[in-house]
Amino acid sequence: MINCEQVRSVIYAYLDRELSRSEAKAILEHVQKCKHCFSELEFEKILKRLTRRALSRPSAGPSFRKKITSILKGETHRG
Ligand SMILES: [Zn+2]
Repeated sequence: MINCEQVRSVIYAYLDRELSRSEAKAILEHVQKCKHCFSELEFEKILKRLTRRALSRPSAGPSFRKKITSILKGETHRG
């Protein structure tokens, strides 16, 4: 079983699909049990998607991540 530190160290490789099938499986098994790593993974996943989209725009800057963070935090208060 891998720990949180290991998950975080390979989170980008995981998102870039650079891990082997068994490594990716270990990550998935961990995030299913670990809320912290799950939200970390989801955050990076969304960030990556938005960043890729925003890269073509001149407005992408240091405040970009901050903006996304507030959006994601706002979502938890929904309902
Ligand atoms: Zn964890």
